[in-house]
Amino acid sequence: MTGSCLCGAVRYRVNGPLRPVIACHCTQCRKTSGHHVAATSAPRDSVEIAGQVNWYRSSPAARRGFCPVCGSNLFWDGPGTHLSIFAGTLDGDPGVRLAGHIFCADKGAYYEIEGPLPRADGADPELTTQVS
Ligand SMILES: [Zn+2]
Ligand SMILES: [Zn+2]
Repeated sequence: MTGSCLCGAVRYRVNGPLRPVIACHCTQCRKTSGHHVAATSAPRDSVEIAGQVNWYRSSPAARRGFCPVCGSNLFWDGPGTHLSIFAGTLDGDPGVRLAGHIFCADKGAYYEIEGPLPRADGADPELTTQVS
């Protein structure tokens, strides 16, 4: 599986399994993406990144990776063994699908979360650590 930013200055390849996609509605994800984030994840050592990624330390526990040329949001790198990858940056069909919503209590007031998928008001390890 491969992916890139909008301009192509950053490209990456994932050699491991992808987790189902989780939408995060937290304030940081809203600010960084302009809406909400939808992210998969993969074991950190299975992700090969080519090109320069700029990292923004968004909290004491995590940093966010973006392209310094076009500004695309690419990665969320926090505690644990997995690197979160923003699903819209993957090329083609990654095989995994949206499987739930987290931090729903922080969602923007301008939209509703529709559909039958599981929702959590805050973090939900059951959703974010599952790997297919
Ligand atoms: Zn770029
Ligand atoms: Zn978030």
